[in-house]
Amino acid sequence: MNLNLEGKVAIVTGAARGMGRATTLTFAREGANVVIDDIDLEAARLVEEEARAIGAQAIVVRADVTKPDEVRQMVNDTLAKFGRLDILVNNAGILYVNGKPADRKFFKDTTEEEWPAEIDITLYGVLNCSRAAIEPMLRQKSGSIINIASDAGRGAMPRGTVYGAGKGGCVAFTRHLALELGQSGIRVNCVSPGVIRTTRIEAIESGAKLSPEATEAHKVLEQLAQKSPLGRIGNPQEIANVVVFLASDASSYVTGQTISVNGGDLMP
Ligand code: NAP
Repeated sequence: MNLNLEGKVAIVTGAARGMGRATTLTFAREGANVVIDDIDLEAARLVEEEARAIGAQAIVVRADVTKPDEVRQMVNDTLAKFGRLDILVNNAGILYVNGKPADRKFFKDTTEEEWPAEIDITLYGVLNCSRAAIEPMLRQKSGSIINIASDAGRGAMPRGTVYGAGKGGCVAFTRHLALELGQSGIRVNCVSPGVIRTTRIEAIESGAKLSPEATEAHKVLEQLAQKSPLGRIGNPQEIANVVVFLASDASSYVTGQTISVNGGDLMP
């Protein structure tokens, strides 16, 4: 199997930490040049250094994926630096626990004013980046888009209603875009993580102060992971491995699919 990404150019959103960082560095190890997008510029610069140390060409952009102008600029910067775009990973997101907007609530306790922020990041961010990225991919007649959704968009979890609606939209968007772009040589797939030990979960485990809602949410996540067939929380590299497969020619006959990477927790 050939996972070689030599000469390919990949944008990863939300690449400063967690799964985005793991994916970026795995791309770099497989020979790709990487565009590291995050709203946290300082942390993104550290990933840039790591990618360069591996031998990749790397640039950092600060595009908020919910802002179409910033996203268009991100794609323009990519083309100015590398002249092409082969891979887009729509990873930027907010965590179920202690993310922004603040801890998630039961749907009955939400107001309509609170919904857009969550749908913006889980769904519109994916639409914005995909819309901008397909322009060069259509010209090249090739490309691979990988959306990072969540099992909250395929199954159900407490306090995950609005988040899950956005992530479910992301799963549906994957199918529709794959149908639209297949004949143009562009594949679109989705990775749906279960519970993954990313930076914030680590911070929580090491005793960060949390609101009662976030503590409860974290307990729910741990219980979910423990009752899964593999009986543990996953790690970011286990997501990155599947993303790299979907980005590479090894998955050349795979499009429109959502692959849960969750220790078997949900079997849709
Ligand atoms: P993470 O560690 O919080 O990293 C996400 C990165 O995205 C952060 O650096 C964050 O910056 C950045 N970001 C947030 N909003 C952004 C925006 N509007 N534009 C650009 N960058 C932005 O997250 P993760 O746990 O690796 O999660 C990655 C993806 O997997 C997300 O889409 C998440 O919903 C999904 N997911 C995670 C889990 C899990 O258990 N961890 C499970 C299912 C699905 P700040 O830190 O400054 O906000």
